[in-house]
Amino acid sequence: MREIENQPWPRACLQVYTGNGKGKTTAALGLALRAAGRGLKVFIGQFMKGTYYGELTGVDLQGDLIHIEQFGSAHCIPLRDPPHQEDINLADAGMKRSLEVLTSGEYPIVILDEISVAVHFQLISESDMLDLLDARPSHVELICTGRYATPSLIDRADLVTEMRVVKHPYDAIGLGARDGIER
Ligand code: ATP
Ligand code: MG
Repeated sequence: MREIENQPWPRACLQVYTGNGKGKTTAALGLALRAAGRGLKVFIGQFMKGTYYGELTGVDLQGDLIHIEQFGSAHCIPLRDPPHQEDINLADAGMKRSLEVLTSGEYPIVILDEISVAVHFQLISESDMLDLLDARPSHVELICTGRYATPSLIDRADLVTEMRVVKHPYDAIGLGARDGIER
């Protein structure tokens, strides 16, 4: 493993953004923007996402410090059905890629967006997620987002924020996801 030179912090953390309120992915993207402003490279892997989000090209507007890849397909996954093999395969490939990136020494910050949802939908086993957490080098900041963070993820994290819905326009007026705001 190639070590990152000039470690930016005394210690790197495992961060978790979870809960039902809006802002988990947005918080992670904001962190990436801030880090880029400090010249830090950030990798963002998005589980269960395969459609276009503004961040896919938005990150390129600030240079080449933030790299983003999607590990999902374009279709929705209904929770009531057993997971499709295609979705399991994509998530599995995402886990392999995440391990590679995490241990590459290239990125001091790695964001695994919606990884908790992928575990909840049984695309990834909880033990595979925990193995990935165990593989995190102590100098890499890892940010895991998604509803339904498991107790074992929360237990291992240094920082956990639970987004709680106070109001959401979807509930009040049925306002769906808007380009540039939610996607
Ligand atoms: P964002 O990507 O906007 O930061 P998020 O990551 O916190 O949101 P997810 O749980 O990933 O939210 O939800 C996916 C979609 O559902 C997003 O479009 C998000 O804005 C929307 N959403 C989030 N919270 C709620 C809510 N309480 N009611 C309805 N829709 C929501
Ligand atoms: Mg999200």
